[in-house]
This record gives sequence, C-alpha cells and structure tokens, in this order.
Amino acid sequence: MLSNKSRTYEWLNSYHIGKIKEAFSTNFPTYIGMIVSCTILCYENMLLGIILYIFCTHLSYYVHILAHQDNAKTINCIHEYHHNYVDNYAHYLQIVLELVTSITPIFIVYLFTNRFYVKNRFEPYVIFMFSLFYSSIHNINYSMLHVNTIHENHHKNWCVNYGPDICDVIYGTKEDYEILEDTSHYLPNLIICTIIASVLYHTIPRLTDSAQMSIIKYMTQTYTYGAMILLMFNINIMFGELDTDKSDFAQNMDDINKKIYNPPSPSLTRSWYEV
Ligand SMILES: [Zn+2]
Ligand SMILES: [Zn+2]
Repeated sequence: MLSNKSRTYEWLNSYHIGKIKEAFSTNFPTYIGMIVSCTILCYENMLLGIILYIFCTHLSYYVHILAHQDNAKTINCIHEYHHNYVDNYAHYLQIVLELVTSITPIFIVYLFTNRFYVKNRFEPYVIFMFSLFYSSIHNINYSMLHVNTIHENHHKNWCVNYGPDICDVIYGTKEDYEILEDTSHYLPNLIICTIIASVLYHTIPRLTDSAQMSIIKYMTQTYTYGAMILLMFNINIMFGELDTDKSDFAQNMDDINKKIYNPPSPSLTRSWYEV
C-alpha cells in the first residue's frame, strides 16, 4: 500500500514516475498505432520520423499552453472565445485556428529552405497528418461525441488537461492523476488521417511539375486566407470585448447615478430594515 504522501503528485516523485509508466502501459494500443502510422509515412528514415511524431505531439501541447498565457491572449482571443461560447461561430473559428497554426511549421521551413522539408520529403505530410489528427480529436471526439470529460474539464479550469493526455501526465498539468485518459478513441482518427496523408504522399510526386506547382500555389493561398480570416476575427473579438467592457462600465455608472439621485423610498427602506 502506498502512503498518503507517496500518492500525491510532486515533479518526478515515485507517484509521478509510476503514473507516467501507467499512462504508457494502459494506452499501449495508441502507441502501437503511432508507430505503425510513423512506419507508413516515414519508412525512409524512421529515426527522423519518430523525432517528428514526438515534436508534433509536444507542439500541440505547448501551443495550447501558449494560447492561455496572459501575454499571448491578445493575439489569440479566438481560443478564449472557443472556451467561453459553444456557438457555430466559435466552433468553426477554432477549427480554422487549429488547421492554420498546426501547419505553420511547413511554411516556416519553406521560408528558410525554399522547400517544404528539411531532410526528407515526408516531413510536411506528417505535419499535415498531425494537424488533421489533433483537430479531429478536439472537434469530433471531445466536442461532438463527448467521449470523456477530460477536455470538458479543461474548459472549466484553463490550467489543466491541455492535451494530449501523455504530455499533461509527464509535465504536471494533469487535473487528477487518478483519472488517466483512455486514448483508444484516438485510433480511428489516427487510421483515417494516416491514410489521407499517405495517399497524398504517394500521389502528389507522380503529378506533373505544373500540377504540383498549382497545388503549392493553392495551398499557400488557402493558408494566407486562413491566417487573414483569423487575424480579422481576432481583432473583431478583441474590439467586441472592449465594447462590452465599455457598455458594462457605462451601465455600472448609470446604476450608481440612479442610486445617488433616486434613493429608495422611505417605505422600501423601512421594510428593508424591518426584515
Ligand atoms: Zn484551451
Ligand atoms: Zn476545446
């Protein structure tokens, strides 16, 4: 039996290490799925493929944390809006946000190397696969199918359960270490997204040069439009919130003025004291 102290999380104490091991062992089908997906897409260089899969998993975790930092909120009102509202506007904006931000590494690499990969041609397809994978889990599994309450609890407390669950377990942002997520619901998303990325990976290089150039052109245009839409809506939400703040302030001042210049009638005051 573990003592009470050893059942409490502290960074890298025996309880924490035990929970990291438990998270890997109970979700081993998910990790087998990840390795199979990595083999399908990155068989030309498995070591780089594994590094890329670990990088993309961490990227989604840290970008989500960044979206909740006070300094970053002004450039990411859309994610806060997604937390505060459940309308379609919030839903679709969040999908655009996820797809655009998660494929940003492809465009950063392009800026520096003038091509979409650093070492191997599969790199942009892995990043694209992860962007679909992450967005589908968030918007379908959690938001529509409500597979569990792990992500819903993140909406209630913005400091925990950023996801993926293994990152929360390792880096100490897990809401409750006694409730590890069963991530087998990732598997259908992983299979479908890997198939889509693999088909594109094998089809696009066989197209003519001009067809490939057209795809790059349309992709770049879509990315630019997506980023512009996000910027516009972000500004819109920011100024909308400022307007709400201003109207709240005006309403409060109005209430105070009414209280000062129209005090409650003596009968009301008396009855209030008499209660
Ligand atoms: Zn969030
Ligand atoms: Zn959410």
